[in-house]
Amino acid sequence: MKKVMVVMGTRPEAIKLCPLVLELKRRNTVFDVLVCSTGQHRAMLDSALEAFSVKPDFDLDAMRTGQTASDLTGRILRRMDEILDAESPEFVLVQGDTTSAFSAALAAFHRKIPIGHVEAGLRTYHMHDPFPEEFHRQAISLMTDYHFAPTVTAKRNLLREGKHESRIYITGNTVVDAMRLTLTGKRPFSDWNLPSDKRMLLFTAHRKESIGERLCGMLRALRRIVEETPDLIVYYPVHHNPEVRRAAIDILKGVPRIRMIEPPEIVSFHHLLSRAYLILTDSGGIQEEASVLGIPTVVMRYSSERTEGMRSGVLKLAGCSEQGIYELTKKLLSPKSVDYEMMKRPSAIYGDGNASIRIADVLMRI
Ligand code: UDP
Repeated sequence: MKKVMVVMGTRPEAIKLCPLVLELKRRNTVFDVLVCSTGQHRAMLDSALEAFSVKPDFDLDAMRTGQTASDLTGRILRRMDEILDAESPEFVLVQGDTTSAFSAALAAFHRKIPIGHVEAGLRTYHMHDPFPEEFHRQAISLMTDYHFAPTVTAKRNLLREGKHESRIYITGNTVVDAMRLTLTGKRPFSDWNLPSDKRMLLFTAHRKESIGERLCGMLRALRRIVEETPDLIVYYPVHHNPEVRRAAIDILKGVPRIRMIEPPEIVSFHHLLSRAYLILTDSGGIQEEASVLGIPTVVMRYSSERTEGMRSGVLKLAGCSEQGIYELTKKLLSPKSVDYEMMKRPSAIYGDGNASIRIADVLMRI
């Protein structure tokens, strides 16, 4: 049996790793799978794990109020080291670019345990955008033995950085595997009570580098757009970060047709997303999901590592200024917008939903 430890700490990691955990567990004559949760984002992580019925074997419970990135890195590193010492897995799998992924990879690296990096090779090459994630990704790649790149572009980035081709596997993105699981079967909040005479705009914003004046500009742009577009209804899952909540309430309270809701768990969220007419977001994962579904998306960032989605036309970069977001969104919402129609294209750029199978196959061969 090959003992594999899968480490995750945040909602997006759980969403993208649970399909792989389920696939590895399905091959239970080959793999002994241990799931380790760092608890970096407690509530949202737990609800994503629950949605896929995945129970962690270890819980580092590393989240503290007011924690700094260094506090968190230190706590995860120490606890991971104890667990790795006790369990001696053959592989440690991490996903993406969070503090949890970076710290777990570093702990495995110190113990010379081979690391598999899921969603390897994403880059903006701007060390502060996204921060500190761009550093985490590049640092994890330095320590990784097996790079599971979601796309050809990601593979090219890794090759350019000198990673050996024989260690890079193009698998597709496991988010598509997750969408296969969440979007089939029963609709949990059927139709979300969407009025049939309205177009639905889904809004999310909570990146660390957005919080502050940038976020306020995004929210003001949203308010202007809604006030000027009577057939628009907005669903806005408001992130748990208190600064985000304060800004959202200050700027949007009382504005008609904006429904500020608690962040839905992933199954409900994917169903809501699939009903959107337009998406405004600063999220990374939602850019991929929107590309898969072909829902036109205004990306409220200055750069994006989801270059495939940009090229396919589904995503458009608006920057973070109030005016930039306002103008692009208004253009896309205008009646019979040609730009909108050109963006409305589902695509397979992020894979076919079999990424977890490919990763498990590679781990079996090693
Ligand atoms: N998501 C969710 N509920 C919400 C908002 C987002 O389940 O209310 C999911 C979304 O489908 C995506 C992931 O969370 O898979 C994105 O998380 P986030 O934007 O926090 O992180 P990023 O992808 O930017 O790292």
